[in-house]
Amino acid sequence: MRNSIDLKDIKNHGKKLGFEEERSDGKSRALKSDFYKIKEEVLACKKCPLRKLRDESKYFPVIGQGNHEADIMFIGEAPGLNEAKTGVPFCGASGRILDELLTGIGIKREDVYIANILKDRPPGNRDPETKEIEACFPYLEKQIEAIKPKIVCTLGRYSMGVIMQKFGLADQLDSISKIHGKEFQSKNGTVIIPLYHPAVAVYNGNRKGELQKDFQILKKYMK
Ligand code: URA
Repeated sequence: MRNSIDLKDIKNHGKKLGFEEERSDGKSRALKSDFYKIKEEVLACKKCPLRKLRDESKYFPVIGQGNHEADIMFIGEAPGLNEAKTGVPFCGASGRILDELLTGIGIKREDVYIANILKDRPPGNRDPETKEIEACFPYLEKQIEAIKPKIVCTLGRYSMGVIMQKFGLADQLDSISKIHGKEFQSKNGTVIIPLYHPAVAVYNGNRKGELQKDFQILKKYMK
């Protein structure tokens, strides 16, 4: 009988528990424990009034979904009703458009990571408020740090504003009608691509073509 444990055993035990993962792309490891911690923090968070609505309406926080090693991360604005009822980002009408746009360029939803600026649904789908963004953004920052995406696609003008500021691109911010579909290289190498929110095509089917054209730019980043 062995009475000593060697380091290899401990490492494998960690792997079995999902606490240690090697990244296939050579970037530093994304740890399942990081995502577990973020989830626990969001579940416990009481920093903004949207939490009250979450509890009263029996909504779920929408934390994020997808590949923890994704090269491409999509960041929307905030969960809608369908999302808050299920905890899944972009699972309603906008999500169907997003899926269509991804399929159109040969990307599967599970290949990318999808999150939002806010984890909780603002009442009546109103715009996010500054204090809500300030309270919630640190969780998204931790997700970005863990995933280390090469490309961050913002969906809609709120996400564009917040993400371009975070990546030191505030001086290049302009209206979304001017900069959608363009690539912005941040100092740390992450490429930011502002995109229209898929909801624009829910309300006006003619706008889908514009979105489809912008999504073409992602093809060059696909392995
Ligand atoms: N709109 C968003 O911005 N995010 C979602 O998750 C759903 C709709």
